[in-house]
Amino acid sequence: MSAAGRIDAVLLDMDGVLYHGERALPDAASFMRRIAFLPHAFITNNPILPPAAVAEKLARLGFERPDPAQIITSAQATALHLAEQQPGFRYFAVGAAGLHQALAEVGTADQQAADFVVVGEGAGLDYESLTTGINLILKQGARLIGTNPDTTVDATIDGCHRILPGGGALLAPFAIATGVEPLIIGKPQPLLFEIALQRLGIETEHCLMVGDRPDTDIAGAARLGMRTALVRTGRFAPGKPWPEGLPRADWDCDNLEQLSDALTLLRSG
Ligand SMILES: [Mg+2]
Repeated sequence: MSAAGRIDAVLLDMDGVLYHGERALPDAASFMRRIAFLPHAFITNNPILPPAAVAEKLARLGFERPDPAQIITSAQATALHLAEQQPGFRYFAVGAAGLHQALAEVGTADQQAADFVVVGEGAGLDYESLTTGINLILKQGARLIGTNPDTTVDATIDGCHRILPGGGALLAPFAIATGVEPLIIGKPQPLLFEIALQRLGIETEHCLMVGDRPDTDIAGAARLGMRTALVRTGRFAPGKPWPEGLPRADWDCDNLEQLSDALTLLRSG
């Protein structure tokens, strides 16, 4: 695929692209400095941290602190989508602080008469919350919403790599118990990309998405007509064959340094 064409803005995934857990990836800070002249935003399927906490984390890891408005998490995309569907909605949420905070900004928590049961990644699921959610869905007709489809996510806890359940895995018990099909918001679904594009005020075809996963970051952006760059610094390692049936990235690089070299607009001179 041709790598020609103008790029006016950049969307970036973070985990596996800029950092792993609490460790910034080599070249990530210098890559961000090189694209700093372009409008850019960060989009993540991870709903656990509120945008201000993500901005704080980026600053802690040595990146220039972004404006929290440049950070769009799947929790915020979920909240914005539900508010659009049903202004003043009531919800029962199962997940971490980032999800509760995003929903509370536009809706009202109500575990007796929720319109939506919203399940996000992170701690929160237990027997009690599963029971409440199931009853709201089966007896009161609440709709089941998931922040993101990821089955597992990588984390570093006390310096050790751990695999944690993703939003999709935590959503599954609700879907299985009720037999209803959940609406899932995060990448590869278009909503996160669309919110970011709207905030940047940029046309889809002039925006570059940089991600580490062919199935979510690249597939979702490519389907919208964005330019795409895969960096093989996350779970998708260098040398791994491209998954069948998924659109190929415009740039397929081992790391951000390679991508930086490949992007003609970043070349000096
Ligand atoms: Mg990632």
